[in-house]
Amino acid sequence: MCVVCGGAPGVGPRLPTGAASRRCIRCGLVWWDWPEFEPAALYDRDYFQSTQHAKGYDDYAALEPGVRRTARLRLGRLERCVRLGSESGAGDKRRLFEIGCGTGVFLDEARAAGWEVCGAEVSAYGAAQAAQRGLRVERAAIEELRPTSEKFDCVAMWDVIEHLRDPDGAIAFAASILRPGGWMALSTGDVDSLAARVSGSRWHLYNLPEHLFFFTVRSLRALLARHGFETKLVVREWQWVPASYLVERLSKTLLRRQTRPGAGPRWLLPATLFDIVGLYGQLREAGAAREPGR
Ligand SMILES: [Zn+2]
Repeated sequence: MCVVCGGAPGVGPRLPTGAASRRCIRCGLVWWDWPEFEPAALYDRDYFQSTQHAKGYDDYAALEPGVRRTARLRLGRLERCVRLGSESGAGDKRRLFEIGCGTGVFLDEARAAGWEVCGAEVSAYGAAQAAQRGLRVERAAIEELRPTSEKFDCVAMWDVIEHLRDPDGAIAFAASILRPGGWMALSTGDVDSLAARVSGSRWHLYNLPEHLFFFTVRSLRALLARHGFETKLVVREWQWVPASYLVERLSKTLLRRQTRPGAGPRWLLPATLFDIVGLYGQLREAGAAREPGR
C-alpha cells in the first residue's frame, strides 16, 4: 500500500537492477522492495569520496563551490517564502533545522546569512565534517530523532527524502519541530518528469540501493498536506556544478570511462534536466484541521 496516500500499488517502472517496483495508482509514488540495510553503514566516507564504488559522489569536496552556490540559491528562495508568508513582511531570520545536512554546506551558508542553524546527519563522516565547520549537528538517522521543546521557523531537507525508509515519519518529525506558520523546504527527483520518462530504466536518479522512493509532485503535495502543510511554491530545481564534473559524468555515462576527479575546468555552470522538484510548504496555524497521521 502507498505510504503517502494509502492507494493501491500498481506495476512500477523498470529499474536498472531489474528489481521489481510498484507505482501507486492514485498519487504516482514509486517504490521498490529494498533489502534491509543500515543507513549509517551505507553513508560512510566512501559515499562522499570514492571512485571505486558506483554509490555517492566521486569527490564531494571538489563539488563544494557549486554546492555552496546551489545552497545560496535555495536559501534565497526559502527566505522569499518566509518573507511573503509573514504578516509583517519582515520574515525575521531565526531558527533553521536541516534534516540530512551532509557535510553542512547549506547550514554554513544559512548561518552566514544570519540564521541560527542546526541539523542532523546519519553519516558519521558528514556529521564530523559539519562539526569541523563549527555547526551544531547531531549524528543520527531520522528515525532516531526525537521532537524537542525547541521550535524552528524552517526545516530544510534537500535531496534526502528519496533515501528514507519512512518518508512519512520524516515529514511528521519536521512538522513536530516547526512553529505554526513555519516553513518546510524539500527537493527530490520527479519520476513523472520528461527526463525520467524518456530515460526509462537509465534515469540517473534510479540510483539503487540508495534511493528507495521516487516521488511525483502530486505525491509530495499529498505527503505535506497530510502533516498540516500547505504547499505554496513548486519549482524545478537547478544546481551549480563545476564544468569538470559535467565532463566527468558525461564520460562515465556515454564513454563508460573514468576521468580523474577534479580534472578539467573549475568554473561553475547551471545544470538541470528539469527532473528535480522543490516544494516549499507552510505549516498551518494551530487549530487548523490536520489529517490524522499513520
Ligand atoms: Zn499514493
